[in-house]
Amino acid sequence: MSLLVVGSLGIDTIETPFGRVENVLGGSATYIAVAASYFVTPVRLVGVVGGDFKKEYFDFLESREIDVDGVQIVKEGKTFRWGGRYQYDLNARDTLFTELNVFEHFDPVIPEEFKKTKYVCLGNIDPVLQRRVLEQIDKPRLVVGDTMNFWIKGKNADLRQTLKLLDVLVVNDAEARQLTNEPNLIKAAKAIMKMGPRIVIVKKGEHGAMLVTEGTIFSAPAYPLENINDPTGAGDAFAGGFIGWIARMDDISEECLKRAVIHGSTLASFCVERFSLERFKELSYLEILDRFREFRELSKFDEEIPV
Ligand code: AMP
Repeated sequence: MSLLVVGSLGIDTIETPFGRVENVLGGSATYIAVAASYFVTPVRLVGVVGGDFKKEYFDFLESREIDVDGVQIVKEGKTFRWGGRYQYDLNARDTLFTELNVFEHFDPVIPEEFKKTKYVCLGNIDPVLQRRVLEQIDKPRLVVGDTMNFWIKGKNADLRQTLKLLDVLVVNDAEARQLTNEPNLIKAAKAIMKMGPRIVIVKKGEHGAMLVTEGTIFSAPAYPLENINDPTGAGDAFAGGFIGWIARMDDISEECLKRAVIHGSTLASFCVERFSLERFKELSYLEILDRFREFRELSKFDEEIPV
């Protein structure tokens, strides 16, 4: 089974209470594709970078068997850059800068051989570009989309148009509230479903994730980690693990969606252990399976009352 991922490939500068890294690999599509690559091949990546995107970044993506043929390289341009700072509450972050650079004039062209991909994940980029992607491809089985405060505030009308075309929206709690003006997350998820997506996943950082469909609310815990260094990309790694698992199983039943949420949470939990995508350089599939099983133990309890 194949998966198409479109979104940003970026160079990040990140400050957390545990350190600071400058000009490291980042981008929404990068995290999604790498996380998904543990479950599905090929992952087909579409995006744009400048001449400053290092060869070692491409080498890393290719080492995960990610097909980068759809990544445009604008030699004279600069790669998308983003800077973020986290305080002790790692659930909240300040964006220090967003430089769209080559994304400003990016026209996502989907290679012919990618157009029939069954599963699609639209990472966080301009909602106009997300729509351009969907216009070019044959109707996929499932389209998952992500967005963030930058676009909810800056391109709200365009985002509303794009939402009509998504099957699944993955957002964090603050974004769900911002998008709907609704403080209660269940009501917010239901309000988002009226905008288009029939499945909504609300990520709540260290408090887990909630899957809302027409008939179900499924609440998954986050893995209780003692050492978190950098939350950047956790949401994207979640989305990648989620859609990667669905694509692997080629199954969009409710039970599979729930398992996919746990796989998403598993990939996100590894992502935050190190800065940038460092943890994925040494992460094995066996470690993922072990942690997936640990998730089941986390909220398993005996329903019998002893007499
Ligand atoms: P997350 O922590 O999951 O929200 O994703 C963080 C990644 O998203 C970083 O690596 C950034 O490079 C990328 N990013 C941040 N802002 C934007 C934006 N406005 N458009 C596209 N990508 C972004």
